[in-house]
Amino acid sequence: MSNLIVDRVTSIRHRILQLHPDNPPQLMAVTKGHSREDAMVAVAAGVDLIGENKVQEAQRKWGTPPPCPLHFIGHLQTNKVKYAIEIFNAIESIDSHRLANAINEKNPNHIMPVMIEVNMGRESQKYGLLPEEVLPFLESAHSWPFLKFAGLMAVFPNRLDNSQEEIVKIRKFMQETGELWRICRNEGFPWAPLHDLSMGMSGDFEWAVEAGATIVRIGTAIFGPRHGSRLQ
Ligand SMILES: *Cc1c(COP(=O)(O)O)cnc(C)c1O
Repeated sequence: MSNLIVDRVTSIRHRILQLHPDNPPQLMAVTKGHSREDAMVAVAAGVDLIGENKVQEAQRKWGTPPPCPLHFIGHLQTNKVKYAIEIFNAIESIDSHRLANAINEKNPNHIMPVMIEVNMGRESQKYGLLPEEVLPFLESAHSWPFLKFAGLMAVFPNRLDNSQEEIVKIRKFMQETGELWRICRNEGFPWAPLHDLSMGMSGDFEWAVEAGATIVRIGTAIFGPRHGSRLQ
């Protein structure tokens, strides 16, 4: 297993470098549903970041922190904020004013890097702001002195199949996300440097890299399938 993880990290890294040799995006290993041991193999093989989507699972796994930054990428309930800000170096999944308020209130001693989650496909079953809500949200974000908006994190519809039509659709969403990110960054809000664009997963990271991602979030293509109730 561990050789397989090393090989997969190496080949994904290689592919990213081919696509973006001068300024390659960071590679996040999404370790939800996988053990600390496997995650540490991926870290040793050279991933830049670890991503988790559940606070409790991350607390169990990362009581001793990993030797690289740990990012939260799931839906964060406000009653878990106080634990999340203790263990995560960044929260990529800000999806409401309520959540931003809660983090700001709980965090009077240091400035928490956060990203806005964008629901590009406007799917009712997904969290995240709609694309047109992002800029107004950022404008109002000066009212949270303990948050630093470090980037955008995009989620996309699952591809129904491998048809050309589906591929064109997802690539269009990625281009639009890149465009939205540049527009927001150009506002130059002091509280929102937005240096990161987190997008792309196992099945579509290459297109995300081409569309300007600075972080790709990869689970399955590193660790294989997740099992049972730990799915998602
Ligand atoms: C699970 C997850 C990923 C990784 O998905 P894979 O298809 O396994 O690579 C990326 N981003 C988020 C937000 C996730 O929940």
